[in-house]
Amino acid sequence: MTNTPDLPAFAWPQMEPGWVWLCGAGPGDPGLLTLHAANALRQADVVIYDALVQEAILDWAPQAEHVYAGKRGGKPSAKQRDISLQLVDLARAGKKVLRLKGGDPFVFGRGGEEAQTLIQHDVPVRIIPGISAGIGGLAYAGIPVTHRDVNQSVTFVTGHDQSGNTPGSLDWDSISKGSQVLVIYMGMKHIAQIATKLLDAGRGSDEPVAVVTSATTSDQRVLETTLGAMVDDIAKSGLQPPAIICVGKSVLMRQVLDWQGMALGQRPRNLDPLGRGRPAETA
Ligand code: SAH
Repeated sequence: MTNTPDLPAFAWPQMEPGWVWLCGAGPGDPGLLTLHAANALRQADVVIYDALVQEAILDWAPQAEHVYAGKRGGKPSAKQRDISLQLVDLARAGKKVLRLKGGDPFVFGRGGEEAQTLIQHDVPVRIIPGISAGIGGLAYAGIPVTHRDVNQSVTFVTGHDQSGNTPGSLDWDSISKGSQVLVIYMGMKHIAQIATKLLDAGRGSDEPVAVVTSATTSDQRVLETTLGAMVDDIAKSGLQPPAIICVGKSVLMRQVLDWQGMALGQRPRNLDPLGRGRPAETA
């Protein structure tokens, strides 16, 4: 690679043989890799990557063997424990192992389990956080996960649990009441159930919702809808996972903050979408 940015002098950690670095690759755009991720990609002997890691990112590790460990295009899914044990074997063979996962490895990514298995097998690990899709993906759609006029808390929720169902253990009533903004990962499969649970718990059917698919990639699409209409609108739109679903008024901020639309020459739709009638910042 000739055009990767040169990293300035810094105490960059060296990958040692026999180590596994568990690293977040961000939501898609390679520019959202961290510098620690770039440093790791340059040193690894082998990169074990998931379905949500953009292939372009592997170009950053031309010297390494690239091993796919995810579910895509009908290929059978590698079992989680098998992946972890493969990491153990590679480490024990003296490789510098980079385990690359979409977003942040510790956010709905089972990174904690993988790291735990490695440590249980005496394999030393380093954790490199990444930009999670629920934060960075929404930012690319012009939606701030917190905005002072909207929310003082945000809840990240997974749309299905290990059994593949909507998480039965989740108290949707408390989640609905306790947090003005919900950011739902893996929600597309059970979207109808999720909508019903939120409406039953008292969230308004006119509440703004955004669905952002393939966020930060060139295939990014954004659907703006409402809690009452989202199931039909998603079906009509033909949107496919991966998707982040944001429920709450912060979605309205996209009317002024859709910076990607503006970069294409669109005007902001509404400079004051929350109707505050005052400058955004008064002090
Ligand atoms: N560790 C990841 C999440 C893994 S769970 C992170 O921190 O982002 C997988 C889910 O993440 C997907 O079903 C989807 O809900 C979300 N996701 C990951 N990448 C995405 C992207 N580029 N666009 C939209 N959603 C994404």
